[in-house]
Amino acid sequence: MKILVINAGSSSVKFTLFDMDQDVWLAKGQIERMKTPAAILKYSNHRGQKFEKNVVANSYEAAISAACLALCDNEHGVIGSLDVIKGIGHRVVHGGAEVTGSLRISEEVKQTILDCYEVAPLHNPPNYEGIEACEFLFPEVPMVAVFDTAFHQTMPAASYTYAIPANVAAQHKLRRYGFHGTSHNYVALAGAKALGRDVKDVKLITVHLGNGCSITAINQGRVADTSMGVTPLEGLVMGTRSGDIDPALVLFLCRAGYSAEDVDKMLNKSSGLLGLAGIGSGDMRDIIAAADGGNAAAKLALDVFVHRLQKYIGAYAAVLNGFDALIFTGGIGENSGRIRGMVCEKLTYLGLELDAAKNRANEIIISRNAAGPKAMAVPTNEELMIARETMRLLS
Ligand code: ADP
Repeated sequence: MKILVINAGSSSVKFTLFDMDQDVWLAKGQIERMKTPAAILKYSNHRGQKFEKNVVANSYEAAISAACLALCDNEHGVIGSLDVIKGIGHRVVHGGAEVTGSLRISEEVKQTILDCYEVAPLHNPPNYEGIEACEFLFPEVPMVAVFDTAFHQTMPAASYTYAIPANVAAQHKLRRYGFHGTSHNYVALAGAKALGRDVKDVKLITVHLGNGCSITAINQGRVADTSMGVTPLEGLVMGTRSGDIDPALVLFLCRAGYSAEDVDKMLNKSSGLLGLAGIGSGDMRDIIAAADGGNAAAKLALDVFVHRLQKYIGAYAAVLNGFDALIFTGGIGENSGRIRGMVCEKLTYLGLELDAAKNRANEIIISRNAAGPKAMAVPTNEELMIARETMRLLS
C-alpha cells in the first residue's frame, strides 16, 4: 500500500511517498520558496536519482501537483499513476487539549484544526491549507491528521498546568501542550526496541535538537513532562528562540517601548544561538566553528545551550525518579558527538558513562556502563511515523 505524507509549512511543502508493504520510502522532496517566482522543487528517489527545478507554486494545490508530476515522471518517477496512493497522512502541529491521537480527517477534525489557529498561528493555517489542497487533488483518497501535540496529551495535570489564575487559563486555553510529539514518540519506540525492551517497561528522556529544540520525560510510554509549552517558545535554547526566560522580561521590554509584535519576533526569530553569538547564523555547525575559531560570544552561546540542556535533564531525571536511557535526536542530536559529549560529561553522577569512540561514530548506543542508564543517538523519522499512523487508522 502506498501512502503519501504531506508536511505543509508557511513557505514550503515537504512530501514523502512510502511503500508500507516494505516499510520503505520510494521518493521524497520539498517545494521551497512557495508563492514566490523562485519556487523550487527538490526531489530524490530510492534509486538515488535527484533533481531540482523551478516550478509554479502559487498555491498549495500547485505545489502538491508539482510533487505529484515528479512522482509519476517517466525518468525519475516511482509510480505509474497516482491511483496507487491509498492514503494521505498530514502533519498537523496543534490539536489542542482534546486531541489525544491521530484522527481520520473529517469536517469535524478540520474544525478542530481551525479552532487551534489562535494557539498556533504560524503552523495550523498552512497545515489546514495542505489538507484542503489534497482534498481537491485526491477527492477519493482517505486522509489522516497526525498531531505534534497528541503524544503529549498523556501528560498529567501537574505538568501541563501553569500556576496562573485557573479561570484565565481556562478562558484562553493556556496550558502546556508540548510539540515535536511525533518525533519524541518515534525515537522512544525505536530507542526501546534497540535496547530490546518494550516502551511500556522503560523510563526515557528524549531530546530533540534541531532548529527547534525540546526535551520530554517519558514514563512507560506516557509523557511525564515536556519543555515546550502553550507555544514552541518555552524550554531549551534553540537556533533562533530564547527558550525559558523570566516572564517579567517581556513586561520590561514592553514598558521600554517594544510592541508585543516586536517582542514576539525578538524571542522567536532573533534570540537563541543566533542572538547570542552575533555571527548572523543560528546554525549549530556555524556556532561550533566560530567558537573553535576563538569567538567568545559563540563560545558563550554554546555554553548557554549545553547548560540549559543539563538543567532540564537533571530536572527530568528527578521527575522520572531515575531513567533507563537518554535519547538524542534531530539534526544536532543525531550528528553532533561534540554536543552530546559536552552534555553527558556532566551526567556521571547519574551513572551515565559515554563511550567516546561510539559517540564519535554516531552509534545508536553511545554509553558503556551496562549497569547505569544508557545514552543513545536515534535518528528521528517523523514522516515514517505519520505513514504508520495513517496505515493504522485506515486499516
Ligand atoms: P529542523 O529542526 O529544521 O528539522 P534539523 O533537525 O535538520 O532541522 O537540525 C538542524 C540543526 O542541526 C542545525 O543547527 C545544524 O547545524 C545542526 N547539525 C546538523 N549536522 C550537524 C553536525 N554534524 N554537528 C552539529 N550540528 C549539526
